Amino acid sequence: LLLVKEKEEKREVLIQNVKVKNGNFVLFAGPCAVESKDQVEEIALRLKECGVDVLRGGTFKPRTSPYSFQGLEVDGMKYLHDAGKKAGIPVITEVVDEYSLNCALDYVDAVQIGARNMQNFSLLKKVGKLKIPVVLKRGFYCTINEWLNAAEYILSEGNQNLILCERGIRTISEETRNTMDISAIPVIKKISSLPIIVDPSHACGIREYVLPLSLAAVAVGADGLMIEVQINPEKAISDARQTIDIDELERIVDKTGKIRSIL
Ligand code: PEP
Ligand code: MN
Repeated sequence: LLLVKEKEEKREVLIQNVKVKNGNFVLFAGPCAVESKDQVEEIALRLKECGVDVLRGGTFKPRTSPYSFQGLEVDGMKYLHDAGKKAGIPVITEVVDEYSLNCALDYVDAVQIGARNMQNFSLLKKVGKLKIPVVLKRGFYCTINEWLNAAEYILSEGNQNLILCERGIRTISEETRNTMDISAIPVIKKISSLPIIVDPSHACGIREYVLPLSLAAVAVGADGLMIEVQINPEKAISDARQTIDIDELERIVDKTGKIRSIL
């Protein structure tokens, strides 16, 4: 590992005018998937009011089952782009291959490499050759060393606009979808210069736990959170059980603010 540790000072990543860096706190929120033009526009405006910094929305969805909703793909990216413009907020979506990456360049401000593609080395090299900010999620069976090596693939190709995202790993615990590796945050802070955010939604898979895990992530120094939010969470086409509503997001904003004020 050369580049993730290279610099003494912490790295800073700009998503439009949003600064992701050590000591700052950035909130990424939005639906698991872009489901329609109206859905994403409505939620974008509400999230902007809540102080959300970056709107997330899946468009090419890597689903466990091939029979599940696969995303609106390029149309979804267009809707996400337009919603972001309307609300005045930058947008991020996941890319899964060269095609979705090329599409993303026309419509979004940052791209996400999902847990399932963390070790898709050809995809890592492709985003590495670009300048677009990248959120690299941790694979659910991957060690911190493997994760940082994946980061190294992107940095070594030239793209320095890299943010890590802890999103839970598989353990013997069965009550939650994954287990949030809370120690990963201080470890990453110690051994790398990269900003790290946390996705409590995919980490636990259950909406009641998103708030407590958000507080924990902020308490250990996460530089931001990525949370799945919908106006009507129960109606979400994907990941409904872990999706929270606007009121719960407001509680998270309020309580994490209090924790940050004592850090
Ligand atoms: C997502 O954020 O939409 C997602 C699919 O997450 P992960 O890659 O962490 O499973
Ligand atoms: Mn999801």
